[in-house]
Amino acid sequence: MIIGGVAAGPKSACRVKRLLPDAEVTIIDQDSLISYGGCGIPYYVSGDVSDEKELRNTSFHMTRDEAFFLKAKGVTARTNTRALAIDRTTKVVHVEDVHTGAKESIPYDNLVLATGTKPNMLPIPGADLDGVFTISDLHKAIAIKERIARGEVSQAVVIGGGAIGIEMAEAFSDLWGIKTTILEFMPRMLETHLTESGVDVFTSEAASAIEGENGKVRRVVTPKRTLAADLVIMAVGVRARSELAQAAGLLVSPMGNIVVNERLQTSDPSIYAAGDCIEVKNLVSGKSSIAPMGSLANREGRIVGDNIAGIPTRYKGWIGSFTMKAFERCIAATGLSLEAALSEGFDAAAVTTAQSAPAGFRQANPQGAWRSGFRPHGRCSAGPHRRSGCGHRPGWHHRRPQPIGNGLRPAFCHRP
Ligand SMILES: Cc1cc2nc3c(=O)[nH]c(=O)nc-3n(C[C@H](O)[C@H](O)[C@H](O)COP(=O)(O)OP(=O)(O)OC[C@H]3O[C@@H](n4cnc5c(N)ncnc54)[C@H](O)[C@@H]3O)c2cc1C
Repeated sequence: MIIGGVAAGPKSACRVKRLLPDAEVTIIDQDSLISYGGCGIPYYVSGDVSDEKELRNTSFHMTRDEAFFLKAKGVTARTNTRALAIDRTTKVVHVEDVHTGAKESIPYDNLVLATGTKPNMLPIPGADLDGVFTISDLHKAIAIKERIARGEVSQAVVIGGGAIGIEMAEAFSDLWGIKTTILEFMPRMLETHLTESGVDVFTSEAASAIEGENGKVRRVVTPKRTLAADLVIMAVGVRARSELAQAAGLLVSPMGNIVVNERLQTSDPSIYAAGDCIEVKNLVSGKSSIAPMGSLANREGRIVGDNIAGIPTRYKGWIGSFTMKAFERCIAATGLSLEAALSEGFDAAAVTTAQSAPAGFRQANPQGAWRSGFRPHGRCSAGPHRRSGCGHRPGWHHRRPQPIGNGLRPAFCHRP
């Protein structure tokens, strides 16, 4: 039985069923929409992806709904079904129908927790006004796009300048022409490129209140200014949905993520966990970290499926690989940033170089900026990014620093 039907859950379900065709495999999800590409949400909001169904379709245009899972995969998918509690002694999950409230208990031999995350909300006045959204699921994306399409949005404020905040700002500004502002409380982000692309960016600035009229959002207030807004996106991070695991007595980290071993078993060997709800090892720092990414969720789901089916497969961790698009720029990283490396106690330094991004013989040959971290007295702290100029700093080249990840396979990362 699998709880959670977006990325890690369906992946593990289908893997088990493929390896063990006689197994009875059930996915439950409290939502009505399952198995969608959350990574495509900004592209759906922007209009690049015109129909939300495209985020749920296979390459052969079949929609991944309950009927698809049953007919094509032999997996029972039950939507609108919420897990209330896990009884580890009798090996049952108590569930309820979210519409009727009808309760039942579903037995399991192996259980997979793929319950994902929920978005953080800033505890500021006005956060509950109509027009304030988090980007956490497809329903929110549909509601936002409908508002925009009805012509109700001319000014948007995105609180949080991380990947999701930037992608949403691009969706609003570039394709819909909405005047968009990003508020970021950290001192640095991609402000130059975003400003050149038409987005206002205020760094080192936090929203202190959201104000409205007749229940609808109208303004975002910071200590320095008031910004008019008829749509506000809160993109201020996520936290694991681990209440079920916690209540069942499973080991959960201080950050609230479910603790698993390399086979992705929780502290109860018959219960596995995968996806955004778990903590994963960062192979560069050697420490536990949080990596809420669809690419990893899918990989972990497959590993869970292998292990349940008796193929011992290990998930050693990730190296922090990440890539995204922001207007005309592609941003990618792997390993630790200089700041993270220093705070992890590495003897680290960094160098910034400019060189062409694709191979030199390509006609379009844009320059890329590469910032590489390395250990001046030994091994590179930025993963296997040798192209980026490790050891090329004058006076340092003779030390020939090596990637710390010799023999590591880079963790998957993707952008749609
Ligand atoms: C806007 C946006 C853009 C993104 N872009 C990228 C990207 O470019 N690259 C990338 O790698 N990742 C990206 N991500 C992240 C990616 O979508 C997530 O990492 C991925 O969806 C995680 O999958 P998951 O299965 O672990 O959890 P989730 O997708 O969070 O799914 C968990 C499911 O479990 C269900 N559930 C929880 N508790 C219960 C319960 N008690 N009973 C029943 N059901 C329950 C929830 O309803 C939910 O449907 C993006 C995310 C967003 C929001």
